[in-house]
Amino acid sequence: MSEAVLYVVATPIGNRGDLSARAIETLGSVDWIAAEDTRHSGRLLRDLGIERPLLSYHDHNAEGRARQLLEYLGNGQSVALISDAGTPLISDPGYRLVRACREAGVRVVPVPGASALIAALSVAGLPTDRFAFEGFPPRAPGKRRAWLAPLADETRTLVFYESAHRIEGFLADLAAVFGGGREAVIARELTKRFETLTGGTLAELVERLAADPDQLRGEFVVVTAGREAGAGEASARIEARALMRVLTRELPAGKAAALAAELLGGKKKHYYSMALALKNE
Ligand code: SAM
Repeated sequence: MSEAVLYVVATPIGNRGDLSARAIETLGSVDWIAAEDTRHSGRLLRDLGIERPLLSYHDHNAEGRARQLLEYLGNGQSVALISDAGTPLISDPGYRLVRACREAGVRVVPVPGASALIAALSVAGLPTDRFAFEGFPPRAPGKRRAWLAPLADETRTLVFYESAHRIEGFLADLAAVFGGGREAVIARELTKRFETLTGGTLAELVERLAADPDQLRGEFVVVTAGREAGAGEASARIEARALMRVLTRELPAGKAAALAAELLGGKKKHYYSMALALKNE
């Protein structure tokens, strides 16, 4: 397949059967395969009987590697980009390479397939006419809550990625910032042996996970309903209180009030009084 094309190829998110016939054909015929982790992808390719030269392409070598791959493409060679699982560029490396190719006028061709984001949305039973993908939340609890605060008012369905280490803390923060009554679905280990879908309010989900530690293992997509359109000022007030409750746990009242005013709008004085009232509750 010697034509200067960058193929962006999706690989399975668990079940090998999800690798498409076109993906196999593409991987078997390109001049180079650029993989996030060559050992991990080497196993998949070996099992498929595919022997093509492999190169690593990850966040730490993206710049140099993109230059090298552009050179190969400039010489009329073809490259397939794959990541460890699912669709490259979706919370995975590839952005710089795709951008550089497009800027250089190199043809970029998608070979679509699995992505945990779409798989989760397709089974969550929450509105899919409009949604926003938020990827991985920040790891530190304080930063995470501040990052979630503006999303509490989003009316579109929201999709998050999370790892086993942080799923419990993340759900607790979601409940604190969005309110425990918000509907959500946890999609765990999609397409794998222990695939589980758990739906309910955020408060129920926090409880259910705490009661069953097995549910804390594996890989997770969390899908939350958007804020109900027309839920109005009452819910905004409740969310402001929920945010202030969390912020005042970590910060002095003045700092918490300044942060809330910046995130939610309005006067710092208003949030400062709320912080004092909450401290006395
Ligand atoms: N590029 C991938 C895609 O298209 O979905 C995502 C890669 S990202 C580094 C890995 C995250 O995706 C995991 O931490 C988890 O949140 C989610 N994920 C990947 N596979 C999954 C699966 N089988 N079940 C649930 N979530 C999954």
